[in-house]
Amino acid sequence: MQIPFLDLKSQYLSIKTEINSAIQNVLDNSAFVLGKAVSDFEAEFAKAHNIKYCVALNSGTAGNHVVLWSLGIKPGDEVIIPVNTFIATAWGATLCGAKPVFVDCDPDSYNIDPAKVERAITEKTKAIVAVHLFGQPADMDPLKQIAAKYNLFLVEDSAQSHIAEYKGIKVGGFGEATSFSFYPGKNLGAYGEGGAFVTNNPELAKKAKMIRDHGTLQKYQHEIFGHNYRMEGIQGAVLNVKLKYLTNWTFARRRVANKYKELLSNVNNIKLPKEMPYAKHVYHLFVIQVRDDSKSNNAELRNLLANYLTEKGISIGFHYPIPLHLQECFKYLGYKKGDFPVAEALANNCISLPMYPELTDAQIEYVCTNIKDFFNHGVESNHSVLNNLKAN
Ligand SMILES: *Cc1c(COP(=O)(O)O)cnc(C)c1O
Repeated sequence: MQIPFLDLKSQYLSIKTEINSAIQNVLDNSAFVLGKAVSDFEAEFAKAHNIKYCVALNSGTAGNHVVLWSLGIKPGDEVIIPVNTFIATAWGATLCGAKPVFVDCDPDSYNIDPAKVERAITEKTKAIVAVHLFGQPADMDPLKQIAAKYNLFLVEDSAQSHIAEYKGIKVGGFGEATSFSFYPGKNLGAYGEGGAFVTNNPELAKKAKMIRDHGTLQKYQHEIFGHNYRMEGIQGAVLNVKLKYLTNWTFARRRVANKYKELLSNVNNIKLPKEMPYAKHVYHLFVIQVRDDSKSNNAELRNLLANYLTEKGISIGFHYPIPLHLQECFKYLGYKKGDFPVAEALANNCISLPMYPELTDAQIEYVCTNIKDFFNHGVESNHSVLNNLKAN
């Protein structure tokens, strides 16, 4: 059986007629950049998160940038960022000329550990970026308290967590502003690049709208510096169709996650993702950790399992194999191995299993059976396979 990591094609086929006519409509109207399809989507997306304003952009990275830019983050400022995230979160700070300051994650939620945030604050700190990683909201209440205590901006990166909930409230409105990504593989994905900026603050919304379009509200009147971060009409049209299905697709992702958890609950060598009591997880990714209690570094065993599953036709991923502080581009920040032990362990141990709404029970069972078979061969025999490979 072949099980892809993502199956964008089968989702497209399920809504093909609607998508094709929405795209045809954009072609007929020649509204290729912004336009009605995009403004309709902005209104619906804001509504889906109970937020007042949505400014559609051409990527989630643009969102990370505009969130901090609209708040006036500038060179000399420091921005607190979880070390365990996709690198685009950090580009938000670097594109503003600011310094990213990393904080380790919590071992259960994999999100920024609020207990470690306070230690990273200096007199230069201006903002905290909470990332809702893998589909699970970060613990926002303690972050809000810290932000208030030190007078910092709190913002969200919700690229992986459309319509996720924290204590029963949708993400997106816990801080000053939030970025979303509509990269095709995200829970709500465009058919190309896409992103959004959302806020309840009318001044910030106005600023984001100007930044997106060369610093203008009126053509050729450039009040402030800007960029070209405009969403394309076709992406707005596609997203508008897909948004209607997001609740059902999210429900299906949670069903897949529950099935994985049920079938893998008695496998001793893995740690399953934990849905925190405050969270409604939307399972952008289903990340398990491989554990071998006889070893401190489980990377070898993790890699063996990854190879085994790949040979069985199951596509897997590592999210993320190198934490941000160990990336070459951040060498100048002076971090070293050992600085963020929770994120470093996760980088060695993690495997992301196939996760999308269309996964069938038979596919989930096939993945789980193969994971169990791998461990039933015995951890020791798998290590000896590896040692033999090394010896040859
Ligand atoms: C995907 C992602 C982004 C960037 O989004 P793009 O649309 O690919 O630019 C930012 N932050 C996180 C956490 C992401 O997963």
